[in-house]
Order: sequence, then C-alpha cells, then structure tokens
Amino acid sequence: MEAKTSLLDNMIGVGDMVLLEPLNEDSFINNLKKRFDHNEVYTYIGSVVISINPYRPLPIYSPEKVEEYRNRNFYELSPHIFALSDEAYRSLRDQDKDQCILITGESGAGKTEASKLVMSYVAAVCGKGAEVNQVKEQLLQSNPVLEAFGNAKTVRNDNSSRFGKYMDIEFDFKGDPLGGVISNYLLEKSRVVKQPRGERNFHIFYQILSGASEDFLCKCCTYTISRYDSSFLSFTIPHTLCFVGNAIFLNYCYWISFIYVFTPYLFLLELKEICELTGIDQSVLERAFSFRTVEAKQEKVSTTLNVAQVKRGPDFKGKNCFKWEFILHEYTITAQTKVRKKVMGVLDIYGFEIFEDNSFEQFIINYCNEKLQQIFIELTLKEEQEEYIREGIEWTHIEYFNNAIICDLIENNQTGILAMLDEECLRPGTVTDETFLEKLNQVCATHQHFESRMSKCSRFLNDTSLPHSCFRIQHYAGKVMYQVEGFVDKNNDLLYRDLSQAMWKASHSLIKALFPEGNPAKINLKRPPTAGSQFKASVATLMKNLQTKNPNYIRCIKPNDKKAAHVFNDALVCHQIRYLGLLENVRVRRAGYAFRQAYEPCLERYKMLCKQTWPHWRGPARAGVEVLFNELEIPEEEFSFGRSKIFIRNPRTLFKLEDLRKQR
Ligand code: ATP
Ligand code: MG
Repeated sequence: MEAKTSLLDNMIGVGDMVLLEPLNEDSFINNLKKRFDHNEVYTYIGSVVISINPYRPLPIYSPEKVEEYRNRNFYELSPHIFALSDEAYRSLRDQDKDQCILITGESGAGKTEASKLVMSYVAAVCGKGAEVNQVKEQLLQSNPVLEAFGNAKTVRNDNSSRFGKYMDIEFDFKGDPLGGVISNYLLEKSRVVKQPRGERNFHIFYQILSGASEDFLCKCCTYTISRYDSSFLSFTIPHTLCFVGNAIFLNYCYWISFIYVFTPYLFLLELKEICELTGIDQSVLERAFSFRTVEAKQEKVSTTLNVAQVKRGPDFKGKNCFKWEFILHEYTITAQTKVRKKVMGVLDIYGFEIFEDNSFEQFIINYCNEKLQQIFIELTLKEEQEEYIREGIEWTHIEYFNNAIICDLIENNQTGILAMLDEECLRPGTVTDETFLEKLNQVCATHQHFESRMSKCSRFLNDTSLPHSCFRIQHYAGKVMYQVEGFVDKNNDLLYRDLSQAMWKASHSLIKALFPEGNPAKINLKRPPTAGSQFKASVATLMKNLQTKNPNYIRCIKPNDKKAAHVFNDALVCHQIRYLGLLENVRVRRAGYAFRQAYEPCLERYKMLCKQTWPHWRGPARAGVEVLFNELEIPEEEFSFGRSKIFIRNPRTLFKLEDLRKQR
C-alpha cells in the first residue's frame, strides 16, 4: 500500500531503504525500480546515497537545484546527491569535521560522474572572489586532463576510469577552497601496450594524434604509429574528443604530455632508432634489455634474461614507461599555508569485480573493497555508538558480519595471500603460479573463507566447479574464483633497474628527467617492492586517511549493460546489490534504531493524533512526544528517549504513526 511505504509526503516508493518493510532483495529491487521509472535515480540508506545511472541527461543538476538543496537538512527534500554534498560541506565548514566521500560501484555505474557532481556542487556553494574562483577552476579543470591520461573506452563504459582516484580538496577556516592533492591507485598500465578486443588505448593517444598538426606528426611520430598501429591504437578517433585534446595543446602541457605518452612507443622501435631519438648509447641499452641485476647478500648479481623474457621486454617496459605519476604531480595544487586546513576527500574507485576469469587485478580490487567495507562497518558503528552516547541511550550490541577475517586472509603479514605471493616471488629457484598455489594450499587450507581442491585436507576435494588451477575466496559480497595464472608475473611487474639506469643516461633531458630512479647517486640495490605490497601499502595509507574523516557514501548502480536510458534489468541490479553489500548496509543501519528524529519536528508532525498535544503543546517538546506515545500505546521496547531525539526501533512503528496521520 502506498500509504505504508511513504515516509515523507509525495515520495515515490520509499525514499529511505531503512524504512522498507518487509526488507528483502525483491522489495529492495522493486523499490529502486519504481523510483527509477519515475526519474528518481537517488534513494537513501540512512545517510548513504544509492545512485542509479539514468544514461541520459536529467534536468536535476541545474543552478536552481543547487539553490534548492543549499543549506537544507538532509531529509528535508527528496533524495539527491546534492543533499549529501551539502551535508558534507556544511559539516566541514561549520563543525570543523574533515569529510570523505566514498563512491563505489561497477564499471559504468556512474562513479566518475557522481564525483564530478559532488565537486561542482561544492564549487558552486563555497566561497567567492577572483582568487577563490581560480582555485575552483583549477580543481574542476583537473578532471579532463586526468581522464585523458587515465580513461579509455571499454566494452562496459565509453569513458572508463582505468585507475582509482582519491582527491583531497583543501579548505580554509571559512570554507573557501585552497587547493587539492590527488592520489591514484593501480592504473591499468597494461592497456598502453594491449587492449582487449573492442576496447581502446587511453584517450590521450587519440587526442594527441587528432589535435596535432600534420607537420608535427610527420616529424615526430607518424612512422612509429603507423608501424605499430594495430596493437597500440586499434580504433579511429572520434572528433568529439578533439576539444579536450585542443585544450591540452594550448599550453605547455602539450609538450610534456607528448613525451610522457610516447615514451612507451620508443620500445617498439628498433634499438638503433630508440638510441637516435633519446641519445642513449646503443650498447648501454642492449645490455639493459638482456640483463637483470638483483641484490643477493649485499652483492650485485646480473642474470641474463631468457628469450621469452627479452621478447616480453617491449610490452613490459613500454607500459612501465607510461609515466603517469608525473601527470598527477602536475595537477596537484597545494596551498602554501601553515594554517590548519579542512579537508574533503573524494574517492572514485572500482567496485567489487567478479568476471568469468578473475585474475590478480580482480583480487587486488576486491581486496580494496573488502577494506572499504571494513571501514564502512567500523565507522558506521562508531558513528551510531557516538550518537547513542551523545543522546544518553544505552548501547545495545549489534549483530553484523564483520569481514575483518577476510581482510586478514589477504593481508596478514605472515600467513596472508599477499605475503605468500611475495615470498614466492622473492624465493630463489623455480617459481611458478603453480608453486604459489601449492603454498596457498598449505597455509590457507583450513581458513573458512578460502576454498581450493588441491590440499589433501581440503573440504572441496569433490567440488568439480573449482578447477585445480584456481582458488576461491568467500568475500563479504559473494564468492569469487581466482585463476592463479599470471599472479607471480603481475606481482613482479616492475621496471627493472637496469632499464631505468640506461634511460637516465639519455642525452634527451626530458627522458632523463622521467627516470630519476636510474641516477647512480640514488641507486638502491634493494629490490623494488612488488605490485601487491605496493598496493597493500597504499590501501593502508588510504584507510588511515579515511579513518580520520567523517564518511559519506555514494553507491552507484548500473541499470543495464546496454548503456541505454529507461531500461532497468532486475537481474543485473540484483547482482550489484549483492556485491555492494547493500542489504547488509540496511541491516547495519537499522540494527539499533531504524529511525530517529528531533523532538520538535516529531511533535509537529504527529501532534494531531493526540488530544493533549493538539493544537498546541505548551511544555517542552520532549514531554509532548512522551504524552503522545503514551496515548497511542506504542510499546515501550519500541522507542527510547534521547537528549534531543526520539529513537524508534522498528520502521513499522513509524508507518503506524503515518497511517494514523493519513486517516485523520
Ligand atoms: P568506470 O568504473 O568504468 O570508470 P564509472 O562508474 O566511473 O565507470 P561513469 O564514467 O561515471 O562510470 O559513467 C558512465 C556513463 O554513464 C557516463 O559517461 C554518462 O554517459 C552516464 N552517466 C553516469 N552518471 C550519469 C548521470 N548522473 N546523469 C546522466 N548520465 C550519467
Ligand atoms: Mg570512472
């Protein structure tokens, strides 16, 4: 019944899933679908915003909308990403609480668009004046450049971010923006040399080609491109991309980006040509390609690379020469001020991934999502607990699934999967993906979230759905089977120091500058950290950073895989709801009290239900609500009186009040 599902007047379906009754997957999806069909793409779970990609421009982001949501209470208007942005910005400015906005969801779900909407909302409502406007402009302008270097067309999304992005926007005490710092996670560098069928290389390659003059192209690179066209740039360039390209070409960034972008191509040329272009001595480069120097017991040991390793060289080295970090550095705008800054972090990161074939990349991405879920649980419960203490309400234990055990399976320093992968990569002797899997089977066989058929004591010996070359992890969001092939190589995948040293010897000054790690004065014989341990360390830093901030969540959902407007595919949405752990979200949110409201608005809304409070209650609002609840005979265990708010345990109680109100 409509009346039963409406908390606020004129709401389509339930605006807040916390109030959904009954709560199950079907009711959850039906509610989203109903709202989506009525152009309501945002729905809350408490303060979490679920956002469904409409795949068409909606007239809900205009300056008038910004004004509508500005300075309004979160639950006052219909759910909107602007309500979350406003809430976050105001608590940062007025309550001095650093904020972070965590945006997750699968590819094409609308994460990057959401992050841009948050940034543009905050830019619209914060500060005024020429100086402030310049900072705002710089922050907003960083997006097209980052997207040029880090986004590409994939089968799932025409503008897919191939990296995780975290941006700290800094504000002064008045709430005026000062600058921003960008960090990135796990750029998919392999795309530089190879793209899956039907996909493209990073936008920047096409933009440079489409924006450059013929003369320039002829001089510098046409022959390189045409020769290797098929593997590096497999598509024609749509003209729509030119405008971004042109914007880049207008400034000095053009020259820098040209070198950054085309450095990987150098490795596709004949050795002689590379040496001519970069000014490196041919014998130096030859050696770099055929040897690998590692440290063993304080000594340098050079091993000759085998034929397969040398053959893989260009791809391997090409992608590692995509000096992405430098681009990020160019777009970091830090304010030179010693005063304490207030910070709003925006995280746009890949959601939980489960494909037919899951490899090292999915493993790492899903690990990151496990950590984000962990922080969600910690912070949500912490926030609840703090509110209960503030309000003087007794804390009751909340039942929920704590995924710390899965994080431990992956990241434990001794027995974690990443630690064992590293151990295997560093071990002398023959190391293969199979030896790594054997090791996993020995150490993790009894872990309740680890499944494999190899170990003798495995509970899964007869599970034919689990091939011998795979292991399965039961993540908080579901089971994922990982194919071990490639784990060892991908974990080891770093630019060998021999090559950086050779590049540093280039007489071309920019190439030299791109390889500071090759400077003999700075040589560190220690092995560079593996991809897995680097990622683990950056995730740990990120988590530490997020833990100090007040979190705001945006969970993005893709309604169909055709990039089509008006299409809502129940099965696809169901899949994402599971992987985002959204039902678990609702359960955690309403584990204690599903609903709370300050006494004044509560009395105002329901005073008509009680003779003693209608039309005017002369005493304190709290006493009025007490009288009201008493007269309506609401069972005592259903609510608690806090210092400033009434806490209601079950949504049904609220619906009862709403029904009574409607009957009047
Ligand atoms: P990936 O993980 O691949 O980077 P993503 O989650 O960042 O994916 P987006 O690039 O934000 O996805 O969105 C994909 C496309 O969907 C956008 O290019 C845009 O066309 C459309 N889209 C997303 N959000 C909205 C929105 N709020 N309104 C209109 N269109 C949208
Ligand atoms: Mg994106």
